[in-house]
Amino acid sequence: MAELIGIDLGTTYSCVAYMNGERPEVIPNLEGNNTTPSVVSFTASGERLVGLAALRQAITNPDKTIYSVKRLIGKKFNSPEMEQIRQKLPYRMIEAANGDILIEAGSRLYTPQEISSFIIGYLKVCAESFLGTEVEEAVITVPAYFNDHQRQATKDAASICGLKVIRIINEPTAASLAYGFDSRKNGLLAVFDLGGGTFDITILEINDGVFHVLATSGDTFLGGDDFDNCVINSILEDFWCENQIDLSQDKFALQRIKEMAEKAKRELSFTTETEINLPFIYSTDHNSFHIRKKVSRSYLEKLTGHLVDRTLAISEQALREARVEPGRVDEVILVGGQTRMPLVRQKVTEFFGRAPAARINPDEIVAMGAAIQAKIIRGSINNLVLLLDVTPFSLGLETENGSFEKIIEKNTTIPARKTMAFTTVENNQRRVKIHVLQGESRKAEENKSLATFDLVGIDSAPAGVPQIDVTFEIDADGLLKVTARDVSTGREQKVIVKPAAGLLPEELEKIIDRQKKEVTDGHDKQGLL
Ligand code: AMP
Repeated sequence: MAELIGIDLGTTYSCVAYMNGERPEVIPNLEGNNTTPSVVSFTASGERLVGLAALRQAITNPDKTIYSVKRLIGKKFNSPEMEQIRQKLPYRMIEAANGDILIEAGSRLYTPQEISSFIIGYLKVCAESFLGTEVEEAVITVPAYFNDHQRQATKDAASICGLKVIRIINEPTAASLAYGFDSRKNGLLAVFDLGGGTFDITILEINDGVFHVLATSGDTFLGGDDFDNCVINSILEDFWCENQIDLSQDKFALQRIKEMAEKAKRELSFTTETEINLPFIYSTDHNSFHIRKKVSRSYLEKLTGHLVDRTLAISEQALREARVEPGRVDEVILVGGQTRMPLVRQKVTEFFGRAPAARINPDEIVAMGAAIQAKIIRGSINNLVLLLDVTPFSLGLETENGSFEKIIEKNTTIPARKTMAFTTVENNQRRVKIHVLQGESRKAEENKSLATFDLVGIDSAPAGVPQIDVTFEIDADGLLKVTARDVSTGREQKVIVKPAAGLLPEELEKIIDRQKKEVTDGHDKQGLL
């Protein structure tokens, strides 16, 4: 029988796990490591490398080494967040015809879904080689704060490499499942998840096998990369002050600084001082320049303290929404590599009034939770476990005066279905425009647009007479389907939302065909195979 796996597709590192009987276990990659860098690189000879082999290329091949793709997935090229991100990434991106992002590497353009599919595909190969059997189905985790587009794009990425996603679950929920499954304790849990690119906080209650998420909050643009950027900026500023040379435009230098900054940041979790040493960082015909400076943990804390404070403000909001005082939380679970930073641990301890749970590997717990969930879905777990997750955003429609009418409120347990009746505003109005949005602002324009469609063929009638029922349905993956029905005429008309972003089914098919062709043409060199 084909095995089931759980995948934690991280911004910087990914991890894959399976159930060894009743116990979740991490599957090592082909190099024997439990986590794999979420990096894909294209070499001059046309090889495609994934994982550590790709990461090793980052300095020599910066414009064809693609990392942090999770920050791009499901995003629009021109969104304000993307403008910031684009400046920080050394590889080239262009705008697709539908406004999505395309990544340029060599002579080819790739969607972020394709790049992610190379990472997922590599993990699939690792799992198949370790388990000695085919793997066809997986549970994949996403940040709780991922929106509809980002979830759909993640699902598409898996299908490109031939993996069927039986469920998308939220990373913090997966972590709580792994924790609760192991400890079998009841109580209130806070999962504080600070990874490479995103921050999530989830408050949930475990009661005799029922995992009930009470509230979730987060920021998809707050993670370890931002801590690195603070260190990078400080190195660039110092170098400018000392030499009046701007290294930010030098791709090779910048990549070396980035690697060194991240390394120093990690080291400062275990030591109070480290050295940044970058010889020959810049050369002219007459001169060579080097960077050598000592960095202390307290200096790092000064540079990045505001980021930790942001995580606490978001945590406060989640607790408010769950109607829970910090002191009532029975256990705090730390997830994501950045939670190894002592300042994060210290501030979380102060905030909740208790030390975080010990003996948890923040890099592996999410994949293990995903593996447990896969087995639960396939009905092969003996203990009763029920996962009740929530939607992280309010979802609704734009109404006549530019207001936002919420149909499903934030933190509603999913799956969820709700119908609301609307009507026309003009006499003999034959069509209505339906604009689906997510967010919390009362003004439509301040929320995120998910899709628009027209409901046409409404019978002529005075304003306010036709009744249009709009139904929002969120499935267990957190994906939204909206339908509209004109009920006043007795006729039913259903419209399914066309997403405002992402791949259309025919585009997805095309990519899958192209991948298959490349594999048969022998272009598919999966890095470490
Ligand atoms: P994740 O996405 O969970 O794999 O988290 C990766 C992030 O954790 C990256 O930004 C890493 O730099 C960061 N990280 C990993 N180990 C440490 C450490 N010892 N101290 C501080 N940050 C770390």
